[in-house]
Amino acid sequence: MTTTSLTLSDPSLLREACFIDGEWITGADTLDVIDPARGTLVARVPRLGAAETEAAVIAAERALPAWRALTADERSRLLMKLHDLLIDNVEDLARLLTAEQGKPLAESRGEIRYGAGYLRWFAEEARRIYGETIPAHAADKRLIAIRQPVGVVGAITPWNFPNAMIARKLAPALAAGCTMVLKPAELTPLSAFALAELARRAGIPRGVFNVLTGDAAAIGGVLTKHPAVRKITFTGSTAVGKLLLAQAADTVKKVSMELGGHAPFIVFDDADLDAAVEGAVAAKYRNSGQTCVCANRFIVQAGIHDAFVEKLGARAAALKVGPGDAEGTVQGPLIDARAVAKVESHVADAIGQGARVVTGGRRHEAGANFYAPTVLAGVTPAMRIAREETFGPVAPVFRFETEAEALALANASESGLAGYFFTRDIGRAFRVAEAMEVGMVGINTGLISTEVAPFGGVKQSGLGREGGRAGIEDYLEIKYLCFGGI
Ligand code: NAD
Repeated sequence: MTTTSLTLSDPSLLREACFIDGEWITGADTLDVIDPARGTLVARVPRLGAAETEAAVIAAERALPAWRALTADERSRLLMKLHDLLIDNVEDLARLLTAEQGKPLAESRGEIRYGAGYLRWFAEEARRIYGETIPAHAADKRLIAIRQPVGVVGAITPWNFPNAMIARKLAPALAAGCTMVLKPAELTPLSAFALAELARRAGIPRGVFNVLTGDAAAIGGVLTKHPAVRKITFTGSTAVGKLLLAQAADTVKKVSMELGGHAPFIVFDDADLDAAVEGAVAAKYRNSGQTCVCANRFIVQAGIHDAFVEKLGARAAALKVGPGDAEGTVQGPLIDARAVAKVESHVADAIGQGARVVTGGRRHEAGANFYAPTVLAGVTPAMRIAREETFGPVAPVFRFETEAEALALANASESGLAGYFFTRDIGRAFRVAEAMEVGMVGINTGLISTEVAPFGGVKQSGLGREGGRAGIEDYLEIKYLCFGGI
């Protein structure tokens, strides 16, 4: 297999080893990391299993007492140092990310800054882990609640945001005083290893942050069952999330689940058409549609429908498709052949049931993993694309008449992660935002993600929140102290 030539100003950020207890560990078995744009080999990483995971958990358990005993300010300073190292190395980290994941370099740079944002936010939050004093129920008693780190955290992350999905778990966990064993997606481990290298350089002690790749089921099995792991935090598909929830039940671990989405995007007749189209492009085609908060169902009112479809189609057709590291690219490849096949099958099913291709609807000549930005009109609830997350650059458009009808369509999903709508009616803005069964709502915007706000879903989209003030809560236990004989 040919290899991708990756030029970094600091080549030591490209690591092909796992990081356990402060040591780089290789293995006899390896996994190939493939550039999705070209199908070439980027790197080979270890394929580790249960024994190494057990070693990593023990290392994290050993590192825990000293780490949690640091003052909040000491932990905060180390996290800020890691933040600074991410920013200092943004160009190399973006190149690594694009090589393994495919997204355009500009998006990769944005992701590294977004990930660094979580480190800064939780470095700040580390110093605000307050407890409470509680008015006592008896004159001779005094009541206090304190908050303490949960302990060792097992983290499992997906390939679509290889840096940020880790940063938003690592930062609150370490800020709270927890230690971590991370299994990143095997398709995109290089960003995770680079983060481990920067954590080492920042002075985060050995054993506090461990990263390993390999047999996902074996690693996940140890993380979910080992008694020393007190919390599982997962971002990925709903199917794997359910499996991990079941596995973690036996030892009653705390769990956070950031699972799949199927976001509705409603455009009302009174919307600003151009703003709605720009919002749709941002919410749909970023990361080639491989984002959990991607708009997946465009629900458009009859009066604005035809104009919206026409403009969105023109914008989608004009998006420049190509390798993420090529000048001017705004649409990279999908992650692999399986992802392209899924998009193809969703589009074929929709066309078979009467949907009309406005633009795209086919693979793209840029390479095997490329799919043309697509808009489909005439979509109905019976089509697979209406029920399942496509995870690709396809915008299916439904038509509706009344607000009630739009809400019924929007809420007809087991998922409840993000939702979007465009309107200029303030009363409707409140009504619809409150009625949408989702964890996050974009009103007159297609971009909602930020480290300062709580990110997460309802229904089968997950449990818990990442970011914002809520993001550190899942890594803390509350302990109530009752003083008597005062
Ligand atoms: P995935 O569930 O296939 O994989 C996610 C992670 O789980 C990977 O690290 C994978 O190796 C691991 N995994 C797979 N099987 C496992 C097992 N049996 N035991 C332990 N670990 C296992 O998901 P994906 O394809 O990598 O990511 C795409 C999905 O993630 C989409 O559904 C997307 O919506 C979702 N996602 C959600 C959020 C969110 O915040 N809600 C963010 C990003 C992605």
